[in-house]
Amino acid sequence: MNNNSVAPCGVICDICLGYQREKNKCVGCLNVGNKPYHCTVCSIKSCEEKKGNEELLCYDCSKFPCTRIKNLDKRYTLKYGESPIQNLNKIKEIGLQAFIEIEKEKWKCNSCGQLLCVHREVCLNCGNKNEYFPQKNSTII
Ligand SMILES: [Zn+2]
Repeated sequence: MNNNSVAPCGVICDICLGYQREKNKCVGCLNVGNKPYHCTVCSIKSCEEKKGNEELLCYDCSKFPCTRIKNLDKRYTLKYGESPIQNLNKIKEIGLQAFIEIEKEKWKCNSCGQLLCVHREVCLNCGNKNEYFPQKNSTII
């Protein structure tokens, strides 16, 4: 992870499946190169509030958190147990550098040391469990 690892919306590119997979690898939101179509037309990245500064993180915006970010956050939190809004609030509080240092440790697979994938229940590299992934079959009594 580095200073380009966090997309304006608060998603961490380095733990995304698109970034980690072997085939048709994505370079990450803030880097130039191959990306999935939906990321090239992202309305958050190209939001008019940023006045052309596409790399600006959304936490500094007067409309934060806007409906677009809230919708993304709802989906991400529910499906993957990860909140882009919380990430952005944390970055606002402690700064990008400190945030990245924390996330680097948080997502490190404790079996092989590679970064876990937020979209998968197990480490793509070694199959160790991703403890942050929501339990699908947990019984609520
Ligand atoms: Zn692993």
